[in-house]
Amino acid sequence: MKIIPYARQDVNDQDVSAVIEVLRSDYLTQGPLVERFENSVKSFCHAKAAIAVNSATSALHISCLAMGVKSGDIVWTSPISFVASSNCALYCGASVDFIDIDPLTYNISAMALEEKLISSALQNKLPKVVIAVHFSGQPCDMETIFSLSQKYGFKIIEDASHAIGAQYKNLAVGSGQYSDITIFSFHPVKIITSGEGGMILTNNLELSKKCQLLRSHGIESISGELNLHPSKEIWNYQQIDLGFNYRMTDIQAALGLSQMTRLSDFIAKRRTLAARYDILLANFPITTPWQHPDGLSAYHLYVIRLHTDKLKKGQHQIYDELRDLGILVNLHYIPIYLHPYYVKMGFKRGYCPEAEQYFSQALSLPLFSGLNAEDQELVVASLKQVLQ
Ligand SMILES: *Cc1c(COP(=O)(O)O)cnc(C)c1O
Repeated sequence: MKIIPYARQDVNDQDVSAVIEVLRSDYLTQGPLVERFENSVKSFCHAKAAIAVNSATSALHISCLAMGVKSGDIVWTSPISFVASSNCALYCGASVDFIDIDPLTYNISAMALEEKLISSALQNKLPKVVIAVHFSGQPCDMETIFSLSQKYGFKIIEDASHAIGAQYKNLAVGSGQYSDITIFSFHPVKIITSGEGGMILTNNLELSKKCQLLRSHGIESISGELNLHPSKEIWNYQQIDLGFNYRMTDIQAALGLSQMTRLSDFIAKRRTLAARYDILLANFPITTPWQHPDGLSAYHLYVIRLHTDKLKKGQHQIYDELRDLGILVNLHYIPIYLHPYYVKMGFKRGYCPEAEQYFSQALSLPLFSGLNAEDQELVVASLKQVLQ
């Protein structure tokens, strides 16, 4: 039986050679290729600064720290995301809260955000940071979120783990027009990969400097000063903050840099496949992904919503039967606050009704740049069989 995963990395001979070349070079950990990878992503996105790290989770963590998130602060995000979008606030000792999703885009609802800001302002419980997740690769309503940030005084992180290569109002996601920081993930299921890896993009050079420090133990190099004070001690670095070892290796950066040369190609393939799904699935008892005219999705995911009220089978049965046929559909995501760890913090079912309704109907179909037309037809035929 043919097995079709929901996502798969696209690694070619050029990628393999790039990694082998690093293995024979002087640097294995953070070295010249990390900087080249940063420059490549930075120029693609038209951002002022880029800091590569060992995962998007690390990127989120040190972005929050650089913004001063600490105990007593509140960070808001979407419940329909990977847990890392929310855990980063907890790492800093802050608390988290969730804003319900828009029923069409599955992104954070700007209307729900505004309502929550109004009521939270009255209780003096405004967020320090809002993490806007570009779910499935489709950009959030950033213009509205940005204008709310001006009015209510919070900072914005774009969790663009799904969205490198996406565009919002004709600008690359990562350009930072409507946020303080954007982060990307290079996990193998994402659009491009470095094995594990993440990147922070910002136009704020102060935030960039803080993130660079936090990535590597809070240590700064003071080689310049050594020359200024030749009579002093001969160390050339000093720790000025409490940081981590979140460095990316040159091995990872070589893979990421090589993948960057095919980013536009990957996005084009994903968009073509998504458009083809739209056509092939037009008469199915499902909702295909709706696209807001302000954005161009990177299509990390192709999520369908089952019209469960019209179907004889439930979501779980459909999921199981597709997987039994070798179509490894997935469910992105369980609302974060329904995970046992968050339930223990006091979150309850019913908190974000749109997110929970979505969760009871969603399925992610296989979508990756190496998916061929034949396999895509097999996915569609299997779904048809299961829904009958
Ligand atoms: C994958 C993902 C992350 C975490 O990425 P890692 O690189 O695996 O740490 C964070 N947020 C979202 C929305 C993701 O999909």
